Amino acid sequence: MNNPENNKNYPKKWLGVFCGAYMGTDETVHELVKELGEALALNEIGLVYGGGGNGVMGSIADAVLENNGWVMGVVPKNLLETEMAHTSLDELVIVESMHERKKTMYERADAFCALPGGLGTLEEIFEATTWTKLKLHEKYKSVMLLDNNGFWLSFIDLIDDITSSGFIKPEDRAIISRFDSVSAIISNFENS
Ligand code: AMP
Repeated sequence: MNNPENNKNYPKKWLGVFCGAYMGTDETVHELVKELGEALALNEIGLVYGGGGNGVMGSIADAVLENNGWVMGVVPKNLLETEMAHTSLDELVIVESMHERKKTMYERADAFCALPGGLGTLEEIFEATTWTKLKLHEKYKSVMLLDNNGFWLSFIDLIDDITSSGFIKPEDRAIISRFDSVSAIISNFENS
């Protein structure tokens, strides 16, 4: 499927991106988000995300669109206003519930990437990872954490501690990896 109105090619693959509805306090995240958005568009990787127009969510969508990439957003109808759904996406799917939102995102995505975010982002990381562990996705889908300032390091430490305690198997720990550059994310995704 192409979009004749803007001469866009339909993406070859899709990355599900989890990220904050706020922008956070560290301004370096802006650069990272712009870089990821540009790389997704250049590599014909579609962005599927929560559809919000604010914070890191809105910024990653803007960055992909500015570079002529393809964006699908999935918003529960009760959050259409609260999260200020983005108004210029290629596809905006309005669903009944949070559960349906995540299921729809998971179905479209070939893998997942988490940018800095808060409670919602953490919840999505854990659920997408446990779905891979439990083979609930239709194929193996990895979860890649991306930051340029150490944002995810304490999260990785926590997961490693729990793995050392024997509550996470090493093969399940391996579903999640942290990357500190966009190029590393893209090459890992392209080779997965
Ligand atoms: P946050 O990381 O808290 O800024 O939230 C990022 C996004 O995750 C927002 O779009 C939230 O609506 C969304 N979110 C929060 N909790 C859930 C949930 N249980 N299921 C699906 N999305 C959620």
